[in-house]
Amino acid sequence: MLAFYRGHGRALPWRETRAPYGIWIAEVMLQQTRVETVVPRFPVFLRRFPDIFALAAAKEASVCQAWAGLGYYGRARNLHRAAAMIVRQLDGRLPSDASAWRRLPGVGEYTAAAIASIAFGERAAAVDGNVVRVLARVFALPGRASDPGLLRAVRAKAQGLVACEHPGDINQALMDVGATLCRPATPACAACPLRSLCRARREGNAAAYPGKKARAPRRILRIAFAFVEIGSALLLERRPLDGLWAGLWELPSASGPSAKRNLGRRLGHAPGPLLARVGHDLSHRRVLASVYRAQATRGSRQKWWRDPLAAPLSALARKAIVAARGG
Ligand code: SF4
Repeated sequence: MLAFYRGHGRALPWRETRAPYGIWIAEVMLQQTRVETVVPRFPVFLRRFPDIFALAAAKEASVCQAWAGLGYYGRARNLHRAAAMIVRQLDGRLPSDASAWRRLPGVGEYTAAAIASIAFGERAAAVDGNVVRVLARVFALPGRASDPGLLRAVRAKAQGLVACEHPGDINQALMDVGATLCRPATPACAACPLRSLCRARREGNAAAYPGKKARAPRRILRIAFAFVEIGSALLLERRPLDGLWAGLWELPSASGPSAKRNLGRRLGHAPGPLLARVGHDLSHRRVLASVYRAQATRGSRQKWWRDPLAAPLSALARKAIVAARGG
């Protein structure tokens, strides 16, 4: 695995450094976000906030602005809060072990293990969905991807693998095998450094591991949006700081089975013509949104935006604005 990582590992900008600050930023950016999306954003963010002190001293709005294009803005806010805590409580020294990282906002078990192993050489296994797939196959571990029993077994195997001199490289090698070779439906076993050990490959049924997750039925959430435009400015409203799309901007809205009627109640007038319908899938819900032209209304947390697509929008609001403008 080490030979594979050193000879064929992915060349990624955050791998050019062992500086903990850059590795932390990269690992947070990579949460729920594709590597290709992070690659161009990472150096831009680092140029804007080159160290922990610059990040801690920045305004939250500037950090969110530099996060544009990455989505899930809660991560940017957590990064900013964690930076302030590190400067205030640790004199700007980044923690060196996974358990200390876990105490910072926005750092879960995987991210903590990745940072501690890559930047500090701690023997901590970083286990995400890719690593579960690889190790379930290599050791032919039974169970569905989300089964606690399978996760425990994978963690034990992964912990055994990182009990070596280069735990960070092993974690990254496993990440690379999972992302580039051991694909869910069509694993590229011929090129895989684990092929001679892999029990699922020998059994000839790699794609059967891990077992498929049971699908929860998706509930429908209906939303009605008000599209209030004066000249080129659009009225947006900031969502509350907790819950779905926390702190992001969107069109003024109402939800529920009678979303349009609820929107009318909020606005104090019946919404105008329908401009667009858009759908958006969340993990357990399908959101169906209708966008209606409407007149200005007073509300707290509202602001006119001349370039609304530059605002930190929820993914649904972005789709709704583009569709309502005929994009
Ligand atoms: S040999 Fe095939 S199934 Fe096994 S880990 Fe490698 S790519 Fe995955």
